[in-house]
Amino acid sequence: MSRYWSEITKHIKPYVPGEQPGGREYLKLNTNENPYPPSPKVLDAIKQAANESLRRYPDPLCSELRAAIADYYGLGREQVFVGNGSDEVLAFAFPAFFNPGDRIFSPDVTYTFYKVYAALFRVDYIPIPLDEDFSIPVEMFFRENRGIIIPNPNAPTGKYMPIESVRSILEHNRDSVVIIDEAYVDFGGESAAGLIRDYPNLLVVQTLSKSRSLAGLRVGFALGQEGLIKGLDRIKNSINSYTLDRLALAGAREAIRDKAYFEETTSKVINTRERVSARLAGMGFKVIPSKTNFVFISHALCNACDLFRQLKGKGILVRYFNEPRIDNYLRVSIGSDDEMDRFLRVLEEIVASL
Ligand code: PMP
Repeated sequence: MSRYWSEITKHIKPYVPGEQPGGREYLKLNTNENPYPPSPKVLDAIKQAANESLRRYPDPLCSELRAAIADYYGLGREQVFVGNGSDEVLAFAFPAFFNPGDRIFSPDVTYTFYKVYAALFRVDYIPIPLDEDFSIPVEMFFRENRGIIIPNPNAPTGKYMPIESVRSILEHNRDSVVIIDEAYVDFGGESAAGLIRDYPNLLVVQTLSKSRSLAGLRVGFALGQEGLIKGLDRIKNSINSYTLDRLALAGAREAIRDKAYFEETTSKVINTRERVSARLAGMGFKVIPSKTNFVFISHALCNACDLFRQLKGKGILVRYFNEPRIDNYLRVSIGSDDEMDRFLRVLEEIVASL
């Protein structure tokens, strides 16, 4: 605490990201990174871009990257916004669409950053309890609100909501902005991007961190009708005109263009996830059906916090959330087949010893 802090700084509870340990070599299954490297074309493009032109500012409109994303989704260029990770895009969305004091709805078990943005921008954040099996209670989102933010698939549960439910939420909330955070949609879900044509209140947010193996490059984007995108541009241009650097713009453009590599690596992750889910179920774990690159698991006889500590002691990092409803669950990112075999071996030993 410093006497120079503003009231906001004093009272905000910042988001705590998953550990990025230095020193000891861990098998890292705690932040949903992709086990496969980025496309070789991405690395080439970044090397090419690392030249004397770095003395100049990057393109503030991010035109080439926006065009690549627009082409990928069959949208217009004016329907795409890009930012420094989807966290930044989500952060901009709050002041772009919500006033201080506005009521917004989000699931009670979800990505905890939303609550932080709400506090930062003084938005009234109302958690909507998920059903017992962690599904989204769609009708609960039909009440009076100014905004809705839901990840689909949800995090950290991994559970996917059918696109018809997204449509139904949009249909009942014509006067609110509905943000669908699709950070994990490429691992088996269907994007709501196809609904943009029908709903001027829909903002779809995605990231290159997971399915395109670029967590380290920091690139995310939003898709929506021009009105929403212009709103995001106004906020961005009131904070920082150059959120993406020249290297990120070049790498991200190639990542979107290299569809074959993307399809190959995402399907490998999906296959591993299905195999690991079946093995975990065989070991007595409850496994929430996942459409993401992680699994959310719980064991009736083994306490999740103990499992977390024991795995860590054996060099394997997973994510444990000490929060209501989910404090007996672990979130485990899907690594390569070899990594997951090691995880399963160690977990089997621990479970047998308990
Ligand atoms: N949304 C969800 C649901 C996430 O889990 C994450 C990753 N922590 C993000 C957004 C942000 O991802 P990034 O900023 O790396 O694009």
